[in-house]
Amino acid sequence: MKSQKLSSTPVVTGQCLCGAVQFQMEYPAFWAWHDHSRASRLAHGAVYATYVGTWRKRFRITAGEREINRFEEKETSAVRSFCRRCGTPLIYERARSRHMINIPRALFQRRTGRQPIYHIAIEEMQDWAHAGESLVPLKGYPGVFCKRSKKKSRVHEPRLSASTTSDCS
Ligand SMILES: [Zn+2]
Repeated sequence: MKSQKLSSTPVVTGQCLCGAVQFQMEYPAFWAWHDHSRASRLAHGAVYATYVGTWRKRFRITAGEREINRFEEKETSAVRSFCRRCGTPLIYERARSRHMINIPRALFQRRTGRQPIYHIAIEEMQDWAHAGESLVPLKGYPGVFCKRSKKKSRVHEPRLSASTTSDCS
């Protein structure tokens, strides 16, 4: 049910990869952050997850509610929802903040009104995360860039050392 108040409120829309699940959030979000925790890393299959958080009442699913599956983490009682068709992580609800809802930033097509200036579980940040190092084009592979090593880096995995220290210019 749409109230007049809601219809005049600016919203940002988002969706999962397959498009079955669509949602909207009132603009702006409350906050945004990068989450380096192991649980979010595994849930996203990515080095870290970037979320925007908002009040639950400022977020709604507009299509595909039946396609949403929920997974509750036993240790933390956090609930993670995802599209059962395409697997996209959709909503992360933390047990400690029941009135807030967190959505992966990547699912919104437009700006959410908050930049992710915060980091959670930064001590768990992986050493393979890209941290803004300068990159150079990889010769012979258009669109592929490579981190240039200034000197031979002390790579612990011998098999990788050749490819990480050469062919980058
Ligand atoms: Zn989907």
